[in-house]
Parts: sequence; structure tokens; C-alpha cells
Amino acid sequence: MSAPLIGVLALQGGFEAHERVLRRLGARTREVRVPGDLDGIEGLVLPGGESTTMTLGIAREGLGEPLGALAAAGTPILGSCAGLIMLDRDHLGLMDIRAERNAFGRQVHSFEADVPVRGIEGGPMRGVFIRAPWIAEHGPGVEILASVDGHVVAAREDGMLVVSFHAELGGDDRLHRLFLSGLRERSVVGEER
Ligand code: GLN
Repeated sequence: MSAPLIGVLALQGGFEAHERVLRRLGARTREVRVPGDLDGIEGLVLPGGESTTMTLGIAREGLGEPLGALAAAGTPILGSCAGLIMLDRDHLGLMDIRAERNAFGRQVHSFEADVPVRGIEGGPMRGVFIRAPWIAEHGPGVEILASVDGHVVAAREDGMLVVSFHAELGGDDRLHRLFLSGLRERSVVGEER
């Protein structure tokens, strides 16, 4: 497979760190700011940041509908932190989850934890949680991949993979590898048709 082209939503937030990880893993990246930027991408990353600001930007640029179409087409999407919030029922409504914003409490703005993630080999991931959400509710089609203190912090539904923490910080690229492996599976299935 030639280097896949991954879009990274770049309206606001920590998009550059994701781009660096993706490029390190051999992908090409494109910053997505307007609907036309979605043309031809094979996967999409929704980074962390501030979900209220992102919501306003998505509305302003008319990105809501094309992002929905992208997900409906089965394009793999990785959401981290605010990116997880954007995919939930109350925001873009693309995953059957309800995210609780800033769920770990005001006192705990930020912490790190070792998080075993289902599907990721080689020991727990070092998760950097920054005013992180958790998944308070989810439908039956959602596969839970990780929890911290009994709260769901990573999940998967169709081609969408979400984590509450920042997987792009701290040099562990296994989550991005898992995301990119979803692209490969998809292209193999596509070729068999
Ligand atoms: N607290 C932010 C929000 O609610 C998310 C924080 C993050 O992405 N690091 O949008």
C-alpha cells in the first residue's frame, strides 16, 4: 500500500502533534479546514482541543455534513479527547456514545496513567489526560477498549476509534498504528470486491 493520505482537522487544538506521529509512521497528512480538504483522504483524525470552539468552527465552515458522509462511507476516524467529544451523540452524532466533558473533575485538570488498551499489544499505553472526558453512556454497537477507575476512556464503533487521552503526546505511536491498520484492512476488503 502506498503512503495513505490522512486528514487532520486543523480548526483548533493539537493537530500538529498528530501530524508528526502519522508522518513518522509513513502516512501523508493534510490539514482539514474546509470541506474541500476532505476530498481523497483515506482516514481522518479529530484532535484534542476545545470542543465548543471546534463545534463553532465546524458549523462556520459547513463541515458537519461532509464529516457525516465520510463516517457513513466507513472512512476510519481517530478522535482523541475533544475529538472524542465531537463524535458523540450531542455533537456530530456519529458514534452511539455520550461523552461527559471534563469528567475527571476540576481539581484534576491533568494527569497521566498507564492504560491497558484492548487491541494494543506490548503493555499499557501511557495516557496523558488533560481536562479529559469519559464515555458516560454507550450503545450496544460500541466496543469498550479501556477504562480508568471504572470509567470508559477508549472505544471503537465501526471505523471510529476514540480515546479520552492524548495518545499523540509522549512518543507512543501504537494507537496511531492501530488506526492505520484499520485503513489497511479496509483496502484489502476493497480489493477483494
Ligand atoms: N475539556 C476539553 C473540552 O471539553 C477537552 C480537553 C482536551 O481535548 N484536552 O472540549
